[in-house]
Amino acid sequence: MNVRCSYCRHSFNLRRDFLAYAIAQASEKGQKHYAVECVNCRKMLKVSVREMRRYVPAETPETRETAQAAAEVAE
Ligand SMILES: [Zn+2]
Repeated sequence: MNVRCSYCRHSFNLRRDFLAYAIAQASEKGQKHYAVECVNCRKMLKVSVREMRRYVPAETPETRETAQAAAEVAE
C-alpha cells in the first residue's frame, strides 16, 4: 500500500505483513487509524484502517489458494 507523507510529500510503500499487523493492533484498541512513521521526516501519519483492509484480504482458504497459485506462476 502506497502512503504519501502530508508533511514532506515523500511517498513510500507499506508491506502487506506490516498492514496485517497494524490492522490487528488498531482493531484491538478499537482505533480507526494507525499511526505510521514517515521514513523520510519521521512525522507520524494517520492511515485509515479501512483503507489498509483493502490491501489485506481476509484470510480464507480461497484467498490462500489464490496466493499460492500466484506464487507458483511467479516461479
Ligand atoms: Zn515525511
